[in-house]
Amino acid sequence: MQEKTILIVEDEPDIQELIRYHLEKEGFATVKASDGRQALDIIEHNNPDLVLLDLMLPVISGLDVLKTIRFAWGLSALPVIIVSARTDEIDVITGLELGADNYLPKPFSPKVLVANVKALLRRSATRQSGEDMENRHISVGELEIDEDRHEIFWKDNPILLTAYEFSLLSLLASSPGRVFTRNQIISSIKGEDYPVTERSIDVQIASLRRKMGEGGSAIKTVWGIGYSYQEST
Ligand code: CA
Repeated sequence: MQEKTILIVEDEPDIQELIRYHLEKEGFATVKASDGRQALDIIEHNNPDLVLLDLMLPVISGLDVLKTIRFAWGLSALPVIIVSARTDEIDVITGLELGADNYLPKPFSPKVLVANVKALLRRSATRQSGEDMENRHISVGELEIDEDRHEIFWKDNPILLTAYEFSLLSLLASSPGRVFTRNQIISSIKGEDYPVTERSIDVQIASLRRKMGEGGSAIKTVWGIGYSYQEST
């Protein structure tokens, strides 16, 4: 496989260096930007394959970088992961809703960072080739979802879910490790026959976890942001 280039947008040199080290160890090429303007220059001229984006940046903020690449430039397919401290919660939600692909809270584990980068690059390759258009079967670790037959198995045991719970779990498990905000969940599963509100999502998640038993621990609460599906390894 051709070497992928990751743009690291981060104004703290220690963190920038830490990320660079772990990505290069995994065989990625890296480019670095220490403020938002540099980041935009590099995206415009160097075509990175994925962007790791801090939000609190000098000159141009991370959110403005994101707005520029998604809306002014129309780069909807460029994978972007927000890497940000928990204190920037509102900005993180805004960022995810402006089209960032995922969010990693600081401090992060290098292993989780690398896993996220790889998963997102895989996903965007699939998206580009259109392979997942007709794939109605989701398989993540011990979880199997057959969307056509409306069946879910965990460790080969069937799990009986309501239609709402089924939609919710299918959405989260369709992109393992991706953080979905409550608003994104609402807009993805509304239009089905049940009322979807922020509060109802929290209630349905609780019920889903209960019904999945041991498997329920893969449904992660991302504090202040939303939910994701990630089996522990
Ligand atoms: Ca910063």
